Amino acid sequence: MIKSIKTPCYVCEEALLEKNLELLDYVQQRSGAKIILALKGFAMWSTFDLVKRYLHGCTASGLHEAKLAYEKFGKEVHTYSPAFNDEDIQEIAKISDHIVFNSPSQLMRFKDVVKSINPNVSLSIRINPEVSSSPVDIYNPCGIYSRLGTTLANFDESVLEHIEGLNFHALCEQDADALEEVLEAFEEKFSKYFKGLKYINFGGGHHITRKGYDVEKLISLISDFRAKYDVEVYLEPGEAVGWQTGFLISSVLDTFKNGMNVAILDTSAEAHMPDTLAMPYRAMVRGSGEAGEKAHTYRFGGNTCLAGDIMGDYSFDEPLKVGDKVIFEDQIHYTFVKNTTFNGIRLPSLAIWRKNGTIDIIKDFGYEDYKNRLS
Ligand SMILES: *Cc1c(COP(=O)(O)O)cnc(C)c1O
Repeated sequence: MIKSIKTPCYVCEEALLEKNLELLDYVQQRSGAKIILALKGFAMWSTFDLVKRYLHGCTASGLHEAKLAYEKFGKEVHTYSPAFNDEDIQEIAKISDHIVFNSPSQLMRFKDVVKSINPNVSLSIRINPEVSSSPVDIYNPCGIYSRLGTTLANFDESVLEHIEGLNFHALCEQDADALEEVLEAFEEKFSKYFKGLKYINFGGGHHITRKGYDVEKLISLISDFRAKYDVEVYLEPGEAVGWQTGFLISSVLDTFKNGMNVAILDTSAEAHMPDTLAMPYRAMVRGSGEAGEKAHTYRFGGNTCLAGDIMGDYSFDEPLKVGDKVIFEDQIHYTFVKNTTFNGIRLPSLAIWRKNGTIDIIKDFGYEDYKNRLS
């Protein structure tokens, strides 16, 4: 059945997504936290009927994600952006339940207009706890000269009368012990401001659904925090929702030898799997080994002109042929939300593998999608 899918195509497996949601719901039930989906990591809205049975809403990075959350998810809409502009904030105010400002100056600039449009909106400030053990600088929001969040030195106490919560986001693919470290710094610096607050949002980056994540520790950190400060706690993971919920299937278009075996695929690391180059990391390929581990090793390259558009070296028991399918595992988070049409390359279709075994192609892309983004 997989073999008949027109490639390239992302296939999200409903049963695996639901398994993640069940674990996240277990965390909610046991800890009392509310979990919302960070759309920037996973925005396949045709799955939202399922996702919203478990999660409380979405966190959006600006107007477009807020609109998608409002239209397609419907529950709580939390909107944060490093900076809002005069135009977007009007519509964001109408459809958001929480608006999270990055700085006291942004809050002071927009609080009145937001409240005049929507008196029920809850305002918060993102703070920078200045502690993070994020694995790489590009994903470290607490690094030197960071623009993300307000440090204690930049915190202006006059914002307190306008806010009902504080947000931080300092983790990236991390375990509960990393959260514990951040919480310690956060509490030390900011707990003097917690009095009267309704909620604290612990951001994303909690790798809750990864095998080996210490779920019980997360639950006790949240429970203790709620008991100590009498506030609601939110988590807003993206990756943990989409983690290992499906794959990107592609086809071999050509193979040849240039010092080693090279295979060209109908997908692209640059355009379709951007984090493999940005992080960087090597995506797993189903049925493959490390270079040299099996009899036939290939360097997989994308179908663009970028020399570095390379997925990595993979080995197989049998030689690859034109038309063979190559399945990159775990390509549902931070992939189609970041895709580009570099080189005019076709965007992979989007499909859902239903629990009853059928695979529905829910979206196909073509020339029009490329053309419509240009003029
Ligand atoms: C990226 C981001 C998230 C989600 O992070 P994940 O690593 O996908 O869990 C949540 N909140 C904020 C503010 C973010 O920037």
